[in-house]
Amino acid sequence: MTESNVWLRTQDQLKKIADKISLDPSLLTRLLEPDRIVEVNLPFKNTNIKGYRIQHNNIRGPYKGGLRYHPNVSMDEVKALAFWMTMKNAVIDVPFGGGKGGITIDPKTLSEAELKKLTRDFTQKLADVIGPQKDVPAPDVNTNPKIMSWIVSEYEKITGDKSHAVVTGKPIETGGSQGRTEATGLGGTYALMAYLSQINKSSKGLTVAVQGFGNVGKYVAKFLQENGFKVVALSDSKGGIYIKEGIPDIEEVDKYKESTGLLTGCCGKGSDIKPGDILTLPVDIIVPSALENVITQENAGNIKASIILEMANGPTTQEADEILKQKNITVIPDILANSGGVAVSYFEWYQNIHNEIWSKEEVFKKLKAKMNKAVESVYDISAEQGLSLRDSAYILALKRIESKWQKYP
Ligand code: NAD
Repeated sequence: MTESNVWLRTQDQLKKIADKISLDPSLLTRLLEPDRIVEVNLPFKNTNIKGYRIQHNNIRGPYKGGLRYHPNVSMDEVKALAFWMTMKNAVIDVPFGGGKGGITIDPKTLSEAELKKLTRDFTQKLADVIGPQKDVPAPDVNTNPKIMSWIVSEYEKITGDKSHAVVTGKPIETGGSQGRTEATGLGGTYALMAYLSQINKSSKGLTVAVQGFGNVGKYVAKFLQENGFKVVALSDSKGGIYIKEGIPDIEEVDKYKESTGLLTGCCGKGSDIKPGDILTLPVDIIVPSALENVITQENAGNIKASIILEMANGPTTQEADEILKQKNITVIPDILANSGGVAVSYFEWYQNIHNEIWSKEEVFKKLKAKMNKAVESVYDISAEQGLSLRDSAYILALKRIESKWQKYP
């Protein structure tokens, strides 16, 4: 599968939904391409590394979305990710449009000084197009609060802006919000529980396998366990673990991974599995929390779970989605399931702009309310129209964007 397919398929999916709801054709035309594409060259060790910022749409507010540092980052991948941000921000109902960016690099091959220099260079080249009221980046795969703080300081040096609102996901001491680090994982837990409550099902003892053990995977596993789910399997890019009776303590696994860099070996040899096996284990719920295109037509038929909570962006291909529909597997789609991260990013941006500081309890309370409302709205469309939660989430997003869309003479 080529990278460009991700973007082509995304456009295809948009056209189908737009057709279903007779979306204003002029709005569809605008949404089918990003508003602005920024591609920069970052000279590094005698090569030019590519950096991208795609500003997909700002009808509902400033562009908003993460920055990804990964060797597979490409223009088409970032276009699709930026489009999903436009949809996600409308579903969770924050006053932002959608954007995304990244650098085609494996940051694990860089020293901290090199990573900082690359990030500062990238910020200089983006300085004209980002800003609290223009475009607000955040962490994504392989980027973190420390990288965000480098962007804040470089941006402040260039523009004099002291609000710190140019990016979210910052460390607390440089204007970050309480609860942002855990927000995506906790939001996903709230979304799953809200969905189960809509269908009158208890979470007690439901078994879960989580793919990916980074920021999102680690916290979703921890919060699911705290809320009565039985997390039986975890994986990262190097390997996985599966314990039928349930993994006793996610925090202990995290400490082991911090010290060894691995998940495998943490719970005894018999519990190790190959990373590719995680999605087809005999569990109630699978939670892809790593990269896109991991549920494909090759493995969808072998999935045994009845619910998929899409914490990663774009983990399911369109072909796989059709197979899942035929198998009656419920997919809680990415633009709903992982929108807790951007909800708390919005809270962070709001606190920066209004010079406020909220407690973690306040942030989590507001996050829960937002996730519950979004799940309820998506579920209602799905129940009324007999559609999948994914199609329903797209319909909700497009209708919200359409209501703000102004036609110019
Ligand atoms: P991260 O870099 O912190 O973690 C990524 C994890 O995925 C790592 O544990 C890595 O080992 C694992 N991984 C990579 N390839 C894998 C494979 N083939 N099999 C199993 N595991 C593999 O990134 P993150 O911030 O946790 O983001 C994960 C996903 O969630 C991405 O799709 C991202 O776009 C999405 N997301 C993140 C946020 C956020 O707030 N960080 C918000 C919304 C969506």
